[in-house]
Amino acid sequence: MNEFLVNSTLSETSTNSSSSMCWINGILCEPSLAVVSVYDHGFLYGDGVFEGIRFYNGKVFRLGAHLQRLRNSLAALSIEINYSDVELSAAIAQLILASNHSSAYVRLIVTRGVGTLGIDPRSCSNSSVIMILAPLQLSSTDQQQLGLRVIVSSVRRISANMLDPKTKSLNYLNNILARMQATAAGVDEAIMLNAQGYVTEASTENIFLVKKGNLITPAVTEGLLEGITRAEIIKLAQQEGIDVKQQRVTVDELYAADEVFLTGTGAELLFVSEVDGYKISSQAGELFSKLNGKFKQLTQD
Ligand code: PMP
Repeated sequence: MNEFLVNSTLSETSTNSSSSMCWINGILCEPSLAVVSVYDHGFLYGDGVFEGIRFYNGKVFRLGAHLQRLRNSLAALSIEINYSDVELSAAIAQLILASNHSSAYVRLIVTRGVGTLGIDPRSCSNSSVIMILAPLQLSSTDQQQLGLRVIVSSVRRISANMLDPKTKSLNYLNNILARMQATAAGVDEAIMLNAQGYVTEASTENIFLVKKGNLITPAVTEGLLEGITRAEIIKLAQQEGIDVKQQRVTVDELYAADEVFLTGTGAELLFVSEVDGYKISSQAGELFSKLNGKFKQLTQD
């Protein structure tokens, strides 16, 4: 095993399956007993959607926003789901209760369901709903304290007229290829551009930059996932009287930023120390530190 690859990437740790718990179409089970059909179109074709959700001190963070985004993703793919939001919330609560965790991560997956081998979605009569609860630590203490080293990947984000990145689908192959490129380059994360060459987001996080006291993030129309953490940061910044610009961002603007940071449910907030070898900052910037503190407070409320 290449030690370099293991240590240098933004990788998930401590997902010890004995402390994980699953819920499959209404049935709670241990991960070792969790089974999905090989005919499930989520498995065969990536035909499905998902949400990554965190709960802190037993309370799910922004569940309403996650369920709304899930519904939007399902609607974009015309997948029907037999559970109401109230039923999904109750299922998540049941899963949390059955686990020994007060704070952890829940992956909620809805696939087109079991069908025939062919691609035609009409062979799938019932969508499958699957949840996995697991502890999740996406970044190391070093990454939190020293910042992330990132590259701008040559793998482009898929355009909205191919598969809208707003839809959180089970197709993450281009994000995975970008992340692999970061790993091969010996850095932590990859920033992806759209087909026109403008900055969109990182492989699994949204991106913000600070320039002359302004907070800037690529507009959703650039083709990116409308992150729930991104929305929280925009709101927190506005409450602090900080001007937030959602606009087109060039790679040069990224290189020249005073601060760069990433946001996501899994990663939470992480600052970037270096882009393509260009130094951004060797320590957490002023605005990042302020927003990170406010965000942490929010999750503990
Ligand atoms: N972009 C991508 C591609 C992602 O996978 C994620 C993580 N779900 C994000 C951004 C961050 O979104 P959120 O804050 O809702 O987790």
